[in-house]
This record gives sequence, C-alpha cells and structure tokens, in this order.
Amino acid sequence: MSNPTIESADDRVPPLSLPAGSLSRSDRRYGYEVGVDPPDIEPIEHQIRLDFINGERIRSDHLLSDYNHWTYDADDPSTDPWLRGPAKPNGLQLAEESCLYRVKEEERFFECPEDSAVIADAPVYLAAQLEEVREHDDTESALEKARERRVNWYRESIPGKNLYQILKKSSYGTLISGGKGPSLATAALTEDNVFEGTVVVSEDTDPKKYARQQNLPEEFVYRESEFTHADSDPAPSIVDFGIELPAPLLIGCFVNGSRYPFIPWGDGLTCSCPYKHDQAWRVMCKHELLASNICGFESSSIFIPSVRGIDIPHRERRFVSPEIVATHRPTTN
Ligand SMILES: [Zn+2]
Repeated sequence: MSNPTIESADDRVPPLSLPAGSLSRSDRRYGYEVGVDPPDIEPIEHQIRLDFINGERIRSDHLLSDYNHWTYDADDPSTDPWLRGPAKPNGLQLAEESCLYRVKEEERFFECPEDSAVIADAPVYLAAQLEEVREHDDTESALEKARERRVNWYRESIPGKNLYQILKKSSYGTLISGGKGPSLATAALTEDNVFEGTVVVSEDTDPKKYARQQNLPEEFVYRESEFTHADSDPAPSIVDFGIELPAPLLIGCFVNGSRYPFIPWGDGLTCSCPYKHDQAWRVMCKHELLASNICGFESSSIFIPSVRGIDIPHRERRFVSPEIVATHRPTTN
C-alpha cells in the first residue's frame, strides 16, 4: 500500500508522503515495527505535551539548579527535588499525575496478556513486550518483570530521569536564557526560538538550484546535513523515518544555535535531536518542552506556530494526536 500524500496549498512546495509510522493507529495504512523504526510516540508522550500546553509557562525560576537523578526515589517523596527548590511548574504536576493514571489504565493489558482483542489497544511497544512474554517458558515471572519495568518507567524514569533532567537551568534554561521572571512576555521566547517552514532536499540535490527551479526562497531550502543532528550517531535521519525527499518540514531554530527538524511521526511530531533518540524510553526533550510552551501560549492549540519560511501543510505542525486530545483529562490531586 502506498503512503498517503499531502499536497501543499502552495504548488511550489513538494508534496509530503506520510510514512506509515506517522499515521494514526486507526488508519488502515498505519504500520510500525518495534526495534526497527525510530521510537514511537507513546500515548503518555502526547498526554505530557498536552499537560505542558495546559500548564503555566515554564520560567527560569521554575528550573532546578543542580539535580542528580540518582538521588531521586519514586517511593520516597522527600527526594522530590522541587520540595526544597523552586515552585514545581503545574504542567509537570499534571504530567506526573498522567503517568500514575496510565499505570492504572494499563493494568488490563497485564491481566489479559493472551487476549488479542485487549492487547490490540495497547501501545505498540507494550504489545510487543507482551508478545515476548507469551513465548517465554515461565510466562508468569516474565509477565511480572514486564509489568515492573513498565511501572518503573512511568513512576521513576519518566519523571526522575527525563522530565526533571530537562527542567534544569543547564537544559531548558539554555533555551529561555532571557526569561528572568513572570513579567517577561512570551514574545521573547518565540523571538529567540523560531519554528520555520522549510523544504529539505536530498544530499545530491543543490538546495540553491532547487530553490530557483521551484521559485522558493533559497534561505528556507536545506540539505539534512546542515542540521545539528547530522553528525550525531543516536539521531535517526529523516529517511530512517521513511520520509521521501524533497519534503516540506518544520524546523526548530533555537537560541543556543541548534536546528532540528520536527518529523511527522506517531500521529504527532517528534524532535530529531540526539537526546530524544539516544534512549528510546525518553518521552520529551527540551525542544519539545519548548514547543509545548509555545503551543500553549502563542496559539493555545496542538499546532506549533510557524513564524517564518515556507507555507507547509498543517500536518507538519500538528504536535499532538487529535485522538489523545479528545480523551485526555488532565488532573492534579
Ligand atoms: Zn529535541
């Protein structure tokens, strides 16, 4: 089955062929292979993005100065680094609640690992894990181990090793260096960090020549090798996602000088930076946190606003799955 294609409103812009892994799971053309394709966007990732979109804007005075994840223990509330530090941002509180809620929601998959109708609803990675469990000699203990790993991911790794890590002055702080306090307008955030609409061409295409042929502004036509992740091992290339070049794509240009494409994937977008892809269990990088903040305060929507460049189709700016938006109910206790 051929990939669906999105035509751009501007006929100078090439169409985007959406890879099978970028589609909604309810689309019959959806396809994803665990361990072969770049990490999927798990439902919790979409939920965390929504939590940060709905939460207050993250300021410098929310961020941790020094934090070592080895000191964090999910079973010991006194190790929460925000307890003695700055006020915990409410987006993070919502995200932590969402993680705990998912633990409860996923119990049914561990109760009926043999029931393919139930497992069909499980996130793809978990479904693959449960399939492995079924092939195990000692199914019961394999199932228990898989459950422990999953619960540990939600309770310990996502907050302690990922979200708290990026909410440090040395991480997210490098993107909002001008933001000293609550009075600073969000405008500064989007002046320093810009999302632009671009066309990315293959390595054997001359971007300037292509721009002239298509009558596109040449400053917004790139080769992938011009982006920051190009020389970095953990980062998959655009082609690894199954995207055919030339393709219209949204690029994040950040105040610290890095530039990363946001790739249509898992019914949303994923940042192509090495931090995100170095460890498949990471659910958010600082660039995606920034995108959530900008979505929340610039447009209050699930679309990342593109402030300059080429007019690209909406699908390339849609950061969160509409299906998750329809069902996610953020709560804090
Ligand atoms: Zn990133």
